[in-house]
Amino acid sequence: MPFKAPEVFRCPKCNKPVYAAEEVLGAGQKWHKLCFSCGLCKKMLESTTVAEHEGQVFCKQCYGRKFGPKGYGFGGGAGCLTMDSGAHLGNKETAMTNKPNYQAPPNFFLN
Ligand SMILES: [Zn+2]
Ligand SMILES: [Zn+2]
Repeated sequence: MPFKAPEVFRCPKCNKPVYAAEEVLGAGQKWHKLCFSCGLCKKMLESTTVAEHEGQVFCKQCYGRKFGPKGYGFGGGAGCLTMDSGAHLGNKETAMTNKPNYQAPPNFFLN
């Protein structure tokens, strides 16, 4: 009689068993933390930042560019600029830096 292994989830990326200590839930599956990265830019993902498409996982930025509304993304160039302006700040959102009415301290311009 063959040994019956307990139910083990396999990482969709590397197809190896995922144990509780290293699992991340995404796209209805369990992934290794290290395997749970964007299929395009390889950025590490979290269950809150993931976007899924047909069993693959992407970061929201790549997802938006690849599967988002037409006209936004590939062939555009605006997407690259957005990425650049945020990357060095470690920002996922660039909205803050682009905001024109950011409230500066009163003497901000005197310095
Ligand atoms: Zn894996
Ligand atoms: Zn990505």
